[in-house]
Amino acid sequence: MIFRPQRYRLPDRPGEPFIDPEEIENLLVQKAGASAAEVEAVIGRAMARQRLSLSETAVLLGASADARERVLAAAERLKREVYGSRIVLFAPLYVGNRCTNRCAYCSFRADSADTVRKTLTDSEIVREVEALERVGHKRLILVYGEHPAYDPAYIARTVRTTYGVRTEPGGEIRRVNINAAPLSVEGFRTVREAGIGTYQIFQETYHRGAYGRYHLGGRKADYDWRLTSLDRAMEAGIDDVGLGALLGLHDWRFEVMGLVRHTNHLEACFGVGPHTISFPRIKESSASLPAASPVGDEDFVYAIAVLRLAVPYTGLILTAREPASVRDRAIRYGVSQIDGGTRLEIGSYSGEPAAEQGSSQFAIHDSRSLDEIVGRLVESGYLPSFCTACYRRGRTGEHFMEFSVPGFIKRFCGPNAILTLAEYLADYASPVVAERGWAAIDRAVAELPAEAAVQTRLRLERIRTGERDLYF
Ligand code: SAM
Ligand code: SF4
Repeated sequence: MIFRPQRYRLPDRPGEPFIDPEEIENLLVQKAGASAAEVEAVIGRAMARQRLSLSETAVLLGASADARERVLAAAERLKREVYGSRIVLFAPLYVGNRCTNRCAYCSFRADSADTVRKTLTDSEIVREVEALERVGHKRLILVYGEHPAYDPAYIARTVRTTYGVRTEPGGEIRRVNINAAPLSVEGFRTVREAGIGTYQIFQETYHRGAYGRYHLGGRKADYDWRLTSLDRAMEAGIDDVGLGALLGLHDWRFEVMGLVRHTNHLEACFGVGPHTISFPRIKESSASLPAASPVGDEDFVYAIAVLRLAVPYTGLILTAREPASVRDRAIRYGVSQIDGGTRLEIGSYSGEPAAEQGSSQFAIHDSRSLDEIVGRLVESGYLPSFCTACYRRGRTGEHFMEFSVPGFIKRFCGPNAILTLAEYLADYASPVVAERGWAAIDRAVAELPAEAAVQTRLRLERIRTGERDLYF
């Protein structure tokens, strides 16, 4: 994909801050209540697969109630056209909750006396990963507090330990992503060598003033160190990165603009945009901080639709922080990855002996098992996918390929989603979900181009006779 990044008030230079709050605020004010024709023109650009500029994004964010309906419909159409019905599944694995920072919204913050501190030992990690494999997971994100104990060598070791865990029949984690505090370039090199998939980090809020009010101590109080972390990751050769903003700290429109501005910065400096964008909403935690700028469900889903249109090549992640009803809606308008069977208490996937009550970061609102989620997705016409093929084939930048290489999804993503779902159904699904799932696979194969359908059917036969890990 060829990027044509825009130029903004602060020039995009590697390692240098790029958010100008005044520029963003002015655009939001100027474009509020933009005419229907302006909104239509921006929708037209997005439907032509152009990444939107800040000013175009502001037009969508300021749209009237009527125009919002058209934006939602366009996001739904774009999502279907670009991504089809696939939804990628993963699980978070909290490795340790020690933390030297004082983020006002988080139970892990250093001064939270009631949080039970826990770091999984190597053998506890193995048990947790075994438990996740035994329900069918193939893709994890490891999550850590910020603490000297979780240095790059430690993170790299936990990643390698996770990759090394095998269970019968054919259980293995094929892609390990991480969500960890910003590192130096050297530190990022160390974790890259362990074979991480995506390095994910959330700026929390792109507004420097608000950031200062919530990040009260520790290294994370340094806004610029965090804002430039993905530049250092890129410099270390990690070109697969995930952005995010914690919605509720500041005006959500500003945060959407911040995410788009960050995308432009990465494109301008490194020729590659983010693999994923996340937009967690603040949930109850032992910090019990009420969100200063709460985002209602309607605005939340709208923010997702705007992101879908503004950065059409990037995966959008929505976690079990949100209830099933919100997740179901958000999937329609843009979300492409969700977690399933999530537990946040440290050690709780294996349930013994490490599960520590009071060790979780915040409350989750979707506690459905992976099997229930797969069942629900299939029932609603989606194709759950456990695919990790591009990463393992060295096709980095797959999100751009999916998006911009004609036929890529039909030749690779669709068939691989089908094959990985078949493995899941054969090995882990309940009888009801398996029955529905095989019917969905039949329908999905029938929609593939002829040659891809033939090749996929051959591989499905091999999966039925016990072979595993087949992909294109
Ligand atoms: N310590 C690392 C860091 O701060 O980047 C790991 C982050 S934390 C374990 C993962 C993310 O959870 C944070 O970046 C934040 O956005 C989110 N988070 C923290 N407290 C939350 C809360 N009360 N509700 C929802 N999300 C929360
Ligand atoms: Fe620590 Fe991260 Fe929680 Fe902040 S959000 S207190 S850095 S774990």
